[in-house]
Amino acid sequence: MATVSPELMTKYEAVIGLEVHVQLKTNTKLFCGCSIRFGDEPNENTCPICLGMPGVLPVLNKKALEYAVKLGHALNCPIAELSKFDRKQYFYPDLPKGYQISQYDRPVCQEGYLELSNGKKVRIERAHLEEDAGKLVHSGADGLAGSDYSLVDLNRAGTPLLEVVSMPDIRSSDEAQEYVSQLRSIVRYLDVCDGNLEEGSMRCDANVSIRPRGQEELGTKAEIKNMNSLKAMKRAIDVEIERQIGVVEGGNKVVQESRLWNEATGKTISMRSKEEAHDYRYFPDPDLRPLAIDAAWVKELKDSLPELPSQRYEKLTQTFGLPEYDAGVLVEFKELGDFFMVASETVDNYKGLSNWLMGDIAGYLNANKKLLEDTKLTPEHLAQFVKMIDDGALSSAQAKKLLPDLLESGEAPETLAKAKGMAQISDDGALKEILQKILDENPDNVAAYRGGKDKLFGFFVGQAMKATQGNANPQKLNELLKELLQG
Ligand SMILES: [Zn+2]
Repeated sequence: MATVSPELMTKYEAVIGLEVHVQLKTNTKLFCGCSIRFGDEPNENTCPICLGMPGVLPVLNKKALEYAVKLGHALNCPIAELSKFDRKQYFYPDLPKGYQISQYDRPVCQEGYLELSNGKKVRIERAHLEEDAGKLVHSGADGLAGSDYSLVDLNRAGTPLLEVVSMPDIRSSDEAQEYVSQLRSIVRYLDVCDGNLEEGSMRCDANVSIRPRGQEELGTKAEIKNMNSLKAMKRAIDVEIERQIGVVEGGNKVVQESRLWNEATGKTISMRSKEEAHDYRYFPDPDLRPLAIDAAWVKELKDSLPELPSQRYEKLTQTFGLPEYDAGVLVEFKELGDFFMVASETVDNYKGLSNWLMGDIAGYLNANKKLLEDTKLTPEHLAQFVKMIDDGALSSAQAKKLLPDLLESGEAPETLAKAKGMAQISDDGALKEILQKILDENPDNVAAYRGGKDKLFGFFVGQAMKATQGNANPQKLNELLKELLQG
């Protein structure tokens, strides 16, 4: 595909809507008691209900509804008082019933919005509950084409999903990326999903179309699937926008279809023509009664929502005065942010605290492929550590050297510094004594310095560092040495 020139790119505007499937972190499936544990033997977690046997009755998992309502609240969606489930018919071997139980015209969560950092409110059209399909395992080749046979694993069939559908309010791949990143933070803060795009616990499809700038009418959209990370999504959307501009500029029309993103080739390929809603022949599931959602329960859930990412961001920038960048990192990496919040109760140097967390500590965790919770560091110890540096009891070089032990040993920083003979000597009396001894042993140099040889100052500093094995507080040392040399 020829690269589209920047001039052409500005002639068109991209219109993007996102459909995000959030896998809810319940213990059991949406309509039966089977576990949704990952990694068990194929078809181990199945029963007549999720196998689609005739004559069985589904029963709604209340926890899944609770998680849906919580996420709805966080996305500013009114919760339906009356909701219902519908059958979405299509045929595929990973769908044992021949239909998927979903929600058509009465979703649990109605119109809401998610606000981006540029102030734009991306409207949420709806968020509805539905069950996941099973998984096909193709044998003999990657993917269906060329494989000798396919096996079906129905462990995933019936796993609860909340599909969050945005309006086509997004105008660039950057906005799309921020939208999904924010949504991922929200589900993690609510603890309703682990938000892992790579492992598929959050799956994202993008509806992409283009139109000449200034035109109101929407262009024909293509649905892009199979994007397994934020980076892949951004790239796939950019590539698709360019492809569509190429199609239109070449005098052709964009076709409504589903396209599969191929990470290896960096291209999207046509998968199938996209179905319209009426192709699915939706109708109310006669096995499930309409759902009257208790308003008092809904309010109770709203009142008990935990702190949300946007609230934490505001606290970090407003109350703690952290720069926007720091706040962004501490919000996204919730674990670091949680640590910051506890440690900040006993230390005033918030920027120092955030520097250590985002810098050396994050670096150490990355290098060792660990999470903060895998280490023995406590927020209290981190607060003491930052205080010791601020008080001059540890130089920053010493602190860096001490950090791995602080993370791995579970000992207090003071204990560790003492054991390593690191405790910085900041005590005036002790330093003066050491310095005086050096001056007494070098009377010629003292006389020369006092006679105008300023450069000898460095000699005395060097001697003092040697005598203290590098543990003298450099600032204190300079002050006291000046004082003593002036006589
Ligand atoms: Zn089951």
